[in-house]
Amino acid sequence: MNVGLLVTKEARRAVGDETLKSLFENKDLVYMAELGDFVYSDLRDNEVRSLVILGDAGYTLKDEIEQKTGISPLAMDNLPSEWVKGKSVKYVTALLQAYVSKASQSDLAYRVQPVHTKNVDRRSLLRFKFYQYVPYPVLAEQLHIEREINRTVELCPKGALSKTPEGPQVTKPEECSWCGYCSGSSYLGYLENPTFSTTQFVEFVNKITSIYGPSKMLFSCKPVNVKEGVFPVILPCIAYVPDAFLLASYAAGLQPMVYLAEDCRTKDMGMKRMNEMPSHFPGTNLNIVKITSEKELEIAMNTPVPPMKIREIPLDLIYSRSRRRSLLLWSIKEMSKEVPLDEEDEVPSSFYVTVDTEKCVLCGVCVRECQMLVPQIRNQGDSITLEYDEYNCIGSGRCLRSCPEKAITVKEKVKLKEMRKVQFTKSVVTKCRYCGKPIGSFKVKDKVSVMLNSMGYNTQFVDVCNDCKQKELTKMWLQRIGVSK
Ligand code: SF4
Ligand code: SF4
Repeated sequence: MNVGLLVTKEARRAVGDETLKSLFENKDLVYMAELGDFVYSDLRDNEVRSLVILGDAGYTLKDEIEQKTGISPLAMDNLPSEWVKGKSVKYVTALLQAYVSKASQSDLAYRVQPVHTKNVDRRSLLRFKFYQYVPYPVLAEQLHIEREINRTVELCPKGALSKTPEGPQVTKPEECSWCGYCSGSSYLGYLENPTFSTTQFVEFVNKITSIYGPSKMLFSCKPVNVKEGVFPVILPCIAYVPDAFLLASYAAGLQPMVYLAEDCRTKDMGMKRMNEMPSHFPGTNLNIVKITSEKELEIAMNTPVPPMKIREIPLDLIYSRSRRRSLLLWSIKEMSKEVPLDEEDEVPSSFYVTVDTEKCVLCGVCVRECQMLVPQIRNQGDSITLEYDEYNCIGSGRCLRSCPEKAITVKEKVKLKEMRKVQFTKSVVTKCRYCGKPIGSFKVKDKVSVMLNSMGYNTQFVDVCNDCKQKELTKMWLQRIGVSK
């Protein structure tokens, strides 16, 4: 997506033209200018679809830019000039490059439909502006995982979400308070913040770490003055922040800080989410800084950054089926390379499936039921194995409910040592008596025999594959009618 950068005169002076020129290294930046009347036609001519506005005048210009260029206000980031004043060239370059990269991934902003303005003031009357774009969560991709859909819909305190054929969607945007709690608390992250999606997060973090190195990332619901080395991102509410962002920013080399302002518009949901966030990176004493007052914010900004390595977050993680879960698992794996993790510590939003190997008959029903592909059945020579890859379990309980032998239990809040485990259940393969083709586990064959016997049925075909059974039955029928001997 083409990105434009507009700077006010004051901000241009603070940053310097040399630094601004160096930003053109970013291939997504197609237009840069000091604010003036001519920029509207330039933005249209350059097909700019998202904007970074550096300087304080930007706040009042958003409406005008939208009307004259068609750029969505949700695809515009306004950076106060205080963020760049008195900062090093390295910091300013990292900050602006990160915002340009974030802006290049603003596609979701264009999926948001306008809603009627709730507060019609004199200004909106004068401009005939009776609608507005609000950052309600949007579905990034189709989602058909039952647990994630149900959970997301249930999380909304306003009843603004519904199930649709594509997945959970905000179907009553005028009811939505854009607190972001549904998005921040979801496991997989398909319902995204249109102003800071998972893709934007990864682009943003990678840019900062590659240019600036280890530093701090501040998630805030309002613009605040920041110190050198603190990279702020402004969200509609901090309830939008998922655990995966906090862990991944730590693993990438940015200490996460979350600031819930006292005058936050949706403070109750912000506080609820903040209380659910982990207090530290699992298995370490690296704390996730939660801030609820300006005084705490000041202290947090002045505290030195803990020693950390930088790592690039692979982009393919978020194109995988489990998106945010993959991000969370990547973080734990990468952090474990740097520091020995306390294996007894718990991992947030994680689940652990245990299979009673005595009871399990390897029927494979759980494999069919699980939408996260956690259980897998493998044939290896004469044996059949059921593996449970614990990493991707989101605790739906579908396997547990469908297991005919009641062999499964699902536990919430998993210890690090449990998450790494892959469980096995093994059995000998039953082969077809006639053709030798493997037809399932020996345990299932035994179970079926006992069951048929107890019901008074014939058990002669329990160890025969379907093809051979058909052939045998046909042969018996032909013999009975005297066609064959
Ligand atoms: S953002 Fe908040 S109000 Fe809107 S749908 Fe999500 S939980 Fe509901
Ligand atoms: S393993 Fe069971 S509980 Fe976990 S996601 Fe799959 S079906 Fe759900």
